[in-house]
This record gives sequence, C-alpha cells and structure tokens, in this order.
Amino acid sequence: MAKAISLYSSGLDSTLATIVIVRQGIEVTAVKFLTHFGCDMADPAAYLDDYVPHAEQFGFRVKYCHLGEVFLEIVKSPAYGRGKNMNPCVDCRIAMLREAKKLMALTGADFLITGEVLWQRPMSQRRDSFPLIDRAAGVEGIVLRPLTAKLLKPTIAETNGLVDREKLYGFSGRSRKPQMALAKEFGLTDYPAPAGGCLLTDSIYSYRLSELLRYTPNPSLREVNLLKTGRHFRLSPSIKAIAGRNEKENIAIEAQTTDEDITLTVDDVGSPTTLILAQAGQKLEPGDAIVEVAASITARYAKTKHDPQVNVSIYKGVNKLIGHVLVKPLDEETLNSLRIEAKSG
Ligand code: SF4
Repeated sequence: MAKAISLYSSGLDSTLATIVIVRQGIEVTAVKFLTHFGCDMADPAAYLDDYVPHAEQFGFRVKYCHLGEVFLEIVKSPAYGRGKNMNPCVDCRIAMLREAKKLMALTGADFLITGEVLWQRPMSQRRDSFPLIDRAAGVEGIVLRPLTAKLLKPTIAETNGLVDREKLYGFSGRSRKPQMALAKEFGLTDYPAPAGGCLLTDSIYSYRLSELLRYTPNPSLREVNLLKTGRHFRLSPSIKAIAGRNEKENIAIEAQTTDEDITLTVDDVGSPTTLILAQAGQKLEPGDAIVEVAASITARYAKTKHDPQVNVSIYKGVNKLIGHVLVKPLDEETLNSLRIEAKSG
C-alpha cells in the first residue's frame, strides 16, 4: 500500500488534502508541527482533543512534532524574509518539509502532502514559491498539493500512478468556498474557522517579539513563551515587568517563575501577579527603584487602584515573602511610556 505524510494543521485545507489522498486508498500519517508561536490556532492545546476525531472518522493517524529551537533560530533570522509581521512563512514551510522528509524516511512513505492552495497566501503560496520551497527543503517532485494540484506540474506520485491526478483539484485564491463545498461533499462538518496563521502574523505579538530581540538577541525559551501572557513593560534594557491580566494569566506567569525571580502582588484583593524578568546575573532587592516601579504597575492593575497608596507584597519566587512596599498606583502617562507596544506618531 502506498504511504504519504501530510503536513496537517487541523484546519480545513490540510484536513481536506489529507482526506482526498486517503480516499485514493493511500495510508496517510498526518503530522502536526508545533512551535512556540502556535500555528493556525491561538491555543494549540485546544485542538488536540477537538479535532483528532477527524483522523478516526476519515481513516488517517495524527502525529505531533515540535520544531522547538530550530524554529526559534529561523524566526530570529529568516533567510527568505518575513511577511507583514514577524512571520517567516517561506522558511517555516521549508523547515516543516525538511522534518517531514525525515519522517518519510522513517515510515517508508512515498510522498508528502500539504493543504496549500495557489495564491491563498501572498508569501508562501505563490506559483514561484512552491518550487523554491521544495528545492530548498530537498523535496522537489515529492510534494503533492491535492487541493491545487491541477494548476501545478504533476508530481512523481502522479506520474508513476500512485495517485490519480483526475481526482485532485485545481483550487486557487483566497476564497474558501470551493473548500467548504468539498467539505460538505466529504461529510466534514466540524472544522475550525480559518485563522490568520500563527502568533507571528499578529502585529501586537510581533512587536513584542521584535522588541525582545532588540534588547536580547538570544532570548531564552522562557522569555519567548512569556510573550504570549500578560501586559509587558520595559523597565531597563535588561529588565521587564510582566503583569497578569486575569487569574489564568497569573497562573501562567507563576508557572514560569523560578525561585530566583521576584514577583509582586497585592495580597487579599484581585491583583496581577507581576514577574520582574531580569536577565541572568541581575540581582534585585526589595528597596531597588526598579522593584518600586514594578510595584506601582502592580498597584495600578489591582482592585485597590483608586487608593492613594497601595501595599504591594514582594516575593522571591512565588511563595517566599521577602518584603512589602507602599506605592502610588502608576500614572497613565508613565505606564504608557513603559508599555511594550507600537507607539503611534
Ligand atoms: S503563519 Fe507562516 S510562519 Fe506562522 S506557522 Fe504558518 S507558515 Fe509558519
């Protein structure tokens, strides 16, 4: 039985592409690549349970593969440039296809599948970018794009008869109507609404990431992971404060706090947990001016923000209380000048 590896995001296009090939009697392993920036969905954990049933329903299996630090290096300096924001889509597709090729060898697969559609995305889904990407990834001739194949040169799987080209499609452009019609034909009813891509296509997130890289060219994975959570403030070239916006974010921040960090909170009222994120070697103490500024930020977002003075607790890690500081909640102007966001004008 012929075998294929599918680049699977769990979105509509890659699911359809996979089903098209399964329906030709080919055994498909769908590989979902995870990165620190998410892909096609805001919260990768959310679909692990929700959309795997497609696999069972349509007869393919799903494997997860984290690109980890390889992808972080790509994001820092992509060889083929970025899209509108920090998204290095061409380099990203190359990295995924390279990994998929390794899996092909491991599983004895004959070819690769993607859900790409010609002209759907301006950077990585152009007529000239498909061959460029395939060449750079070392997968020329073995990447079948079932949804758009009829508009492209036949691949090896088509010319050697493993796949019937007549049963492939010629979709192009940004409209999802043909895909929606095909989904209906296949009985695929439960699929996520198309999202814009990963977090790197989000302008607010991209600004935070580029700001981090400006001050810290080689950030740790923790620094990168924390970009997704809370309000971020730049206190010095090597120190940031990150304040949770709600209980869930407080928990996420606390989960990424080490015993060496300083955190702040206003005890016994609704309050952010604020992490002072300092680069290695920076020792901070309760009396430091920077700790006071972070305490004023904490006070500003606590339930007690209208009090003239707020008593903020200082912790080493999240549990060891090491002091208190009485501060005024930070005024809006100073707050905005410290906030890590694109400033207009
Ligand atoms: S949006 Fe671009 S950079 Fe982000 S995961 Fe998709 S292809 Fe990769």
